[in-house]
Amino acid sequence: MSRTVSCSIDLNSPGKDAGYLLIGNSTNNSGWATYQVPIIKIANGDGPTMLVLGGNHGDEYEGQIAASALSRELEVNHVRGRIIIIPCLSQDASRAGNRLWPNGANFNRSFPGKEDGALNEKLAHYISTEIFPICDGVLDMHSGGRSMYFIPSSNMVWVGDLDLRKEMIKNMLAWNTNVHMIGAEQSGTNPNSLLPGEAVRQGISVSTGEFGGSGYTTPTTMKNIKAGLENFLRTFGVLEGKSMTRKELGLEPALILDARNPKGFVLASGAGIYENCVRLGSDVQAGDLVGKIHDFDHPDVDPSEVYAHISGVVNLIRGFPPVTTGDVVCVVTPKFASVEEMERVAG
Ligand SMILES: [Zn+2]
Repeated sequence: MSRTVSCSIDLNSPGKDAGYLLIGNSTNNSGWATYQVPIIKIANGDGPTMLVLGGNHGDEYEGQIAASALSRELEVNHVRGRIIIIPCLSQDASRAGNRLWPNGANFNRSFPGKEDGALNEKLAHYISTEIFPICDGVLDMHSGGRSMYFIPSSNMVWVGDLDLRKEMIKNMLAWNTNVHMIGAEQSGTNPNSLLPGEAVRQGISVSTGEFGGSGYTTPTTMKNIKAGLENFLRTFGVLEGKSMTRKELGLEPALILDARNPKGFVLASGAGIYENCVRLGSDVQAGDLVGKIHDFDHPDVDPSEVYAHISGVVNLIRGFPPVTTGDVVCVVTPKFASVEEMERVAG
């Protein structure tokens, strides 16, 4: 039982309630402050529990808007089991249009958290120890943020447990996005520090997605994420109504993009202004030009060129042109017609 975080609503009672996760805080302007994170619970009889999360990164707004809309639109009689929604985990970061918390913390590197740590660590600890254990599924919606633009897709991490992997593949496909991405996490990251990593460690089915990016939304990205979210919740069995497959909707099978290969990540070779030279979603070959880096201080000097290391689909382009050495500016992912084909070819 956390001594530093509490919930103002009873997550175990039936019905719909909205309240806050309350975190003890102290600031220069308010010695006895309470940091409040909105939380909504809708529970109705027997069924699974799904945790719906947005705003893990503050400048990724598609998930925050979709989760907020869900919390307004869902009525008790729509639910079979329980849906818990935290529309925005990183409150101050979202208000500021930033990825990171004001203390510089990346919430998605804060797990499993610390009861007496910084605010982000306290919140991560409460989610790890008090909320994950009552959930059958966790949904963590991302979208690239200011610096990256992804092909909108539902994603999953490639877990070792075969039963859990099968369940997660089913949930990934339920989004009916045109592509699905397996992986990706940047190298040099401790997977246990990630929100999805902690959920998987606890044996919980976790779904993620990169539903756009660059820190803004479009009518298309919002339509896709809202429709996908509903179908995902229906497939999971926590929302009334029949779930639909792409085939039933008259759509072609989705492409599977394998982002597990670190060679797909293209890094900036120097500082400067980055120019995307390939379109998001285009096919490139190993060695193809994907971008140019223009020298801030020597505009008369030719830009340095950046190339793809492997062949595949351009799954991510740069959303924020100023770059420093080592920034990811492009991700190239091999494409497959199905998860089965990917397993056969890539393992
Ligand atoms: Zn993110």
